[in-house]
Amino acid sequence: LCAIDTKATISDTCASYDTIDSLNDEIHPLLTSVTRDTDFFSYYRLNLFNKMCPFWQDENSMCGNIACAVNTIDSEEDLPPVWRVEELSKLEGPRVGHPGRQQQRERPRRRPLQGGLGEDVGESCVLEYDDECDERDYCIPEDEGALAKGDYVSLIDNPERFTGYAGLGAHQVWDSIYRENCFVKPSSSLSSQLSPLHGSQEQAANDFRNVLLHKEQPQPDDECIEKRVFHRIISGMHASISTHLCWEYFNQTTDEWGPNVQCYKDRLHNHPERISNLYFNYALVSRAVAKLQNHLQKYNFCSFDPDQDLDTKQKVLSLTNALQNRPPIFDEAVMFQDENAIDLKEDFRNRFRNVSRLMDCVGCDKCRLWGKIQVNGYGTALKVLFDYDETKDGENPPLRRTELVALINTYARISNSLAAVRSFRQAVESGHEDR
Ligand code: FAD
Repeated sequence: LCAIDTKATISDTCASYDTIDSLNDEIHPLLTSVTRDTDFFSYYRLNLFNKMCPFWQDENSMCGNIACAVNTIDSEEDLPPVWRVEELSKLEGPRVGHPGRQQQRERPRRRPLQGGLGEDVGESCVLEYDDECDERDYCIPEDEGALAKGDYVSLIDNPERFTGYAGLGAHQVWDSIYRENCFVKPSSSLSSQLSPLHGSQEQAANDFRNVLLHKEQPQPDDECIEKRVFHRIISGMHASISTHLCWEYFNQTTDEWGPNVQCYKDRLHNHPERISNLYFNYALVSRAVAKLQNHLQKYNFCSFDPDQDLDTKQKVLSLTNALQNRPPIFDEAVMFQDENAIDLKEDFRNRFRNVSRLMDCVGCDKCRLWGKIQVNGYGTALKVLFDYDETKDGENPPLRRTELVALINTYARISNSLAAVRSFRQAVESGHEDR
């Protein structure tokens, strides 16, 4: 009943499972190398602990397991130079006020508005210090300016895996995320029901309970590709998280970490549409990364070490080159084409921003870390797909370093999930389920 036909085409893409698996065979090692062997892509800066959930308060759903904890980097010396605030400040020159959106748009990319640069620093190495959301963003910015106080984490030391975070708290977040897909009746969406701008938190929490008790989970509207795509992105992200927790599962009997086939069967194998959405996300993010080829060719990684910069660039470009050498598997041009395109796009973007805000409601630090990275990664992919023109330079929306790091790490997560799903599938099909 649940066998997955690997020759089948994944709807809304131009590819079959086999095509994508074969692409992933080539891409997976390249992504592993970029995300594990470069300082630029293996660290992340975000606001992990200081943002309150804007929709409800529920301290009981906080995860107290050790596996939910995140090791943050508290001392500047433990960070590689490419992420050190002290080093970044040398690049900045005298502090400048925020330029405001209009000025930002008018100035050439990455040029300081006023003040000199630090000594011997190439102009192209001036890092972004915008702390305002660009109106074309799909996410709420996490880093809030290159020099703002944030939490620094090594992504290698904090792998995404089973944490034990579950129950009502986790379900409340997932339910709320899926409800953002309710484009048809805006009044039933979280955007209006739970926004802190609309009534007290207590009222919002009551509204949420009512929604849960009295309304069915909204289903995606098959007639509109944009709504379907929104649902697929969320469901594919959920599938990838489930894959990781099944792939690196903690067996409490043996005290060992390892794959859990039953977990895979329950959460993925018996729900082929979730696996299809995972592949869909792979196609979507692949296209976004491929589209950044020109941008990355000129990108300055600013590690303060020219050899390291060159190495990072070579690794990233080997990835985009491999993608460019393959036939396209995703066509974003079919979206936002009809007469309501502008409103629909705005709605799509606002709902995605709400998903981004919902990450502050995740009661497990490790899950929140990876949830934020992945939502930022998909948000960046959407921005690149729908607001980025490869042929233009200077007019494209700015891409923060945290967005680039999130995009590539999200791609690496999906790539890892695809490899894990294939291995799980082979175990199920061959009857070797004892892992
Ligand atoms: P859940 O996964 O909570 O799913 C809830 C419901 O959503 C299901 O009953 C089903 O109806 C529906 N559903 C499930 N999967 C899909 C899908 N792919 N598409 C569409 N609908 C679906 N736990 C960890 O161990 N490690 C992590 O890193 C981690 N990260 C998380 C990140 C976030 C943002 C969130 C909200 C939770 C995270 N969790 C993590 C918890 C984990 O996702 C589950 O919520 C938990 O394991 C409980 O699983 P469950 O079987 O009750 O169903």
